[in-house]
Amino acid sequence: MSQSFIDMRSDTVTKPTPAMRDAIASAEVGDDMVGEDPTVNRLEALIAEITGKEAAVFACSGTQSNQMGVHVHCSPGDELLIEQSGHIANFEAGGPAVLSGVTCRQIPGRFGMLDLPQLEDKIKADNQHLCRTRLVCLENSTNVGGGRVYPLEQLERVCDWALTHGLKRHLDGARLFNAVTAAGCTPQDICRNFDTVSICFSKGLGCPMGSALVGSTADIAQARRARKLFGGALRQSGMVAAAAIHALENHVERLSVDHDNARAFAESISEQTGILIDVDEIETNLVFFEVDPELGNASQLSAMLKERGVLINSTGPQRLRACTHLDVDRETVLEAAAIVKECVLAGFGEKVGAASGPYVRG
Ligand SMILES: *Cc1c(COP(=O)(O)O)cnc(C)c1O
Repeated sequence: MSQSFIDMRSDTVTKPTPAMRDAIASAEVGDDMVGEDPTVNRLEALIAEITGKEAAVFACSGTQSNQMGVHVHCSPGDELLIEQSGHIANFEAGGPAVLSGVTCRQIPGRFGMLDLPQLEDKIKADNQHLCRTRLVCLENSTNVGGGRVYPLEQLERVCDWALTHGLKRHLDGARLFNAVTAAGCTPQDICRNFDTVSICFSKGLGCPMGSALVGSTADIAQARRARKLFGGALRQSGMVAAAAIHALENHVERLSVDHDNARAFAESISEQTGILIDVDEIETNLVFFEVDPELGNASQLSAMLKERGVLINSTGPQRLRACTHLDVDRETVLEAAAIVKECVLAGFGEKVGAASGPYVRG
């Protein structure tokens, strides 16, 4: 992708900073599959400590660490409960079914989040006809739900309910540190409510790859076996773990800048007639907005923005998602907002083809 694009498709598009590349280049490494990579070991100890868990295991991707979590908690014939837009159920290639023989019960919530009224009647009876309800998966911050953050009381309410009913609790914390930043709490405040938490280093933290699953010593030992089974046990992976350590030390505090930039972008585009957005709903680095169907559809706007050097994907017939991250500063984000407004003002419908393209997400 040429440098001239303002790329707000996702926080996964960031490139390693020069300092991160230095950390990668100078990483001390060994064979992690036999537990001998000192940098991976240091990362696992660090992320376990930060989240207040006994143990951690490094994984290739957030998809892999989520699926390791599902595999640890469930057996074939089990069912997990998840909000209907949840990543684990929608965007992981059917992983629970394929890798663990688990079905996903997708429950409509609010902004990608669940609360007790939606969950209380969802535990299936112990009956030979029915699958076994075993696990609750929450997402914090939410992705398709709108970059929203669980109020701590709601998170505790749901997790206490699950514990009381003998259900395991997994958090898809791909953007855990965005949630922590927005909620003004500690990672432990969130993680203590879960048996396992998956955390991405390749989203807002700006790493080229990598995730971690944290939990009890026993669960993480089992997760290591699942990681091997899923092809994710690596050798000198300290090369990438070094980036994650660098990110945990240097890229967490700055997430508030992404959140402020997201809000500034949202406030700017909200001034334009034809754009539907509630600025008060922007809590983290994701900005979902809709275009008035009278003007055209989201993929048309996305195409027109691309012609003008701005990359923002459509995620529905009228819906788009813009994302702030460490490779777009305030000035760049406001420039993108100005271009969005220009396109809408120009009545983008006539300017590009009428065909609606496929929905894309990242
Ligand atoms: C990105 C993301 C993941 C993991 O994605 P990978 O691309 O596999 O790292 C998991 N959950 C959510 C909510 C995400 O946004």
